[in-house]
Amino acid sequence: MKILIMCDMEGVSGIVTWSQVNGGAPMYEEGRRLYTEEINAAVRGAKRAGASEIVVVDCHGAGGDWTFNSLVPELLDVDCTWVAHHAWSRYTELLEEGADACLLVGMHARNNTADGVMCHTISTVKWHNLWFNDDLVGEVGVNAALCGHYDCPVLLVTGDEAVCREARSYLGDGLTTVAVKKGLSRYSARQIPPIRAREMIEAGAYDALQDLSAVAPYKPSSPVTITIEVDQVEKMEDFRGRSGVELDRAAQKVYSRGPDWMTAWDQVWYW
Ligand SMILES: [Zn+2]
Repeated sequence: MKILIMCDMEGVSGIVTWSQVNGGAPMYEEGRRLYTEEINAAVRGAKRAGASEIVVVDCHGAGGDWTFNSLVPELLDVDCTWVAHHAWSRYTELLEEGADACLLVGMHARNNTADGVMCHTISTVKWHNLWFNDDLVGEVGVNAALCGHYDCPVLLVTGDEAVCREARSYLGDGLTTVAVKKGLSRYSARQIPPIRAREMIEAGAYDALQDLSAVAPYKPSSPVTITIEVDQVEKMEDFRGRSGVELDRAAQKVYSRGPDWMTAWDQVWYW
């Protein structure tokens, strides 16, 4: 059984501020240790469930050379390999080989979620809202659609209560979720201590992998319209002149249309 673990930092227990997730900031070293140990917990759960190959992908943009490069190598469980410093949502090697399931660990809610700790969608300053057809999604949705393109289901989401709720809204109630904190605002939370959170994540990963068909691969129905609402009108220019893409300047919206999700996504997302 081949398992892909895509992970982010903002949904880890103990993390509530940018200085815990931005490379070089005073609290970053603590943040990356907390991050690495939650990933290890998911690896242990997957291993116990029978995974023969586990690939971890660091999806956290920490800035500079820390971007997608925040895991502490010497702390990582020896039974995985991990992808560092690769373009966001562009690692597809294991999916092409036939990954059986994806686990999303340490996730945060989409932008504008009142109880979403450090909530944002891709960029904290650029993307106000993102829809795949009628689904209002966050980064969980992007990762799930990428996996869905290769017929790989997302079976586990961990993070705060808000991202667990969001993920179930478009992946369905068959999804296993593990909430390690409850957001009280964007930068505060009532949390489960990391040691307990890791036990819950390990158990969640194990449980999630007992039924590989519990969640259908996430495939927005074709043809697909991806809608991006940008924060500032000048951000529209980033999407000007692309094939398959239409701009509605008055609404500050960008529409990308394609026969399938991947085609529509490739028109707006870069390497
Ligand atoms: Zn992140």
